[in-house]
Amino acid sequence: MVLPDFTKYYSELAKKVKASEIRELLALIRERKDVISFAGGIPDPAIFPKEKLAEIAKFVIEVYGDDALQYSETKGIIEVRETLSDFVLRYRHIIADAEDIIITTGSQSALDIISRTFINPGDVVITENPTYLAALGAFKNNGAKVVGIPIDDKGIKTDVLERKLKTLVENGERVKFIYVIPVGQNPAGTTMDKDRKQHLLEIASKYDVLVVEDDPYSYIIFEPNVEVASLKSMDSENRVIYMSTVSKILAPGLRIGWIIAHPELIRKFELIKQYIDLHSPTLNQYIVAEAIKRGIIMETVTKAVPRYRRKRDTMIKAIEEEMGELVSFYKPVGGLFIFTYVMNEKFYADSLLEKALKEYKVAYVPGGSFHPDGSGRNSMRLNFSYPSEDQIIEGIRRLGSFVRSSIK
Ligand code: PMP
Repeated sequence: MVLPDFTKYYSELAKKVKASEIRELLALIRERKDVISFAGGIPDPAIFPKEKLAEIAKFVIEVYGDDALQYSETKGIIEVRETLSDFVLRYRHIIADAEDIIITTGSQSALDIISRTFINPGDVVITENPTYLAALGAFKNNGAKVVGIPIDDKGIKTDVLERKLKTLVENGERVKFIYVIPVGQNPAGTTMDKDRKQHLLEIASKYDVLVVEDDPYSYIIFEPNVEVASLKSMDSENRVIYMSTVSKILAPGLRIGWIIAHPELIRKFELIKQYIDLHSPTLNQYIVAEAIKRGIIMETVTKAVPRYRRKRDTMIKAIEEEMGELVSFYKPVGGLFIFTYVMNEKFYADSLLEKALKEYKVAYVPGGSFHPDGSGRNSMRLNFSYPSEDQIIEGIRRLGSFVRSSIK
């Protein structure tokens, strides 16, 4: 049988779309039990409240009956949005009515909806450099030119941001929004302080651009007194579009996230979402709302934080012992990642990955693809939430030998 020449039917997007490095890699590693993987960005399954979720699923189907299994409103079920409204007020100090909230299919879908709503080909989106790989994918697939701004341990350098924004605006570039992950940044592990946040909002106001705040990690905080006030809670101009998800605080498989913004924007997001997936899973929305009402999310967070703190500490200690003189990194106060830069020009984490997997049986995500400017080939993202402490110790030992052998 001769196959049709599919390529001649492809859209421009399909022609240029590239595989998500992380997802391809994870698929590969899943089959390799001998490899210690720091590549995922995934929760430790030990934190999943399995029995309680089973109980809740049964309860939801019994109580809501057919409604729990039926199609539902694109914006999300009203009772669920009301529960989320209470939740974000209590834990993120965000004042939002149900009308300010749209439920999405995880926050990845929120990134897509936001991109489709604002980006025309050639528009500029500003991000931290490095930033979340799949956010870059969503922006670029929609035709954005992404401009990365360097970070330090307090996240995006707002002085550099201001200079860059000024130049972009003077050059007539259409800058649509600044995308930031203020707490436990993926991949760099950085957390913004209040002054930075304030400065960022002032700059956004001065240059009249929107801010997209991606906040999956602010519940996963390891130190006391970490500044976790959301940009949205400081936003007096309705400029911030806030997004979050249950992926790191309950279970990613539920695929439930939310966007909070001015109702005029929520209406646009709703119209865009109608043609993406009609609505997010009804049953899972009810399950999430019930988990919130029963306090299961905060129970899960309380279980996750000390566990992840121990793993973070184990990883930091192991890195310092095994390759401390070879790499630089910020110590994360929250989130799931340590991002290391190997201080050697010859270390290309992308082309060396195969060697790491085959010869050293250790996996990481090459850091280059998190950098919108193509820099950072010498970096690796290491996840500490999923592997056990023993695996972290052994995996970092392998990584140390691998790095050493690669820069000789
Ligand atoms: N944004 C960031 C910064 C993330 O780290 C992730 C998940 N790794 C997502 C969005 C996507 O999350 P979700 O599972 O809700 O789609």
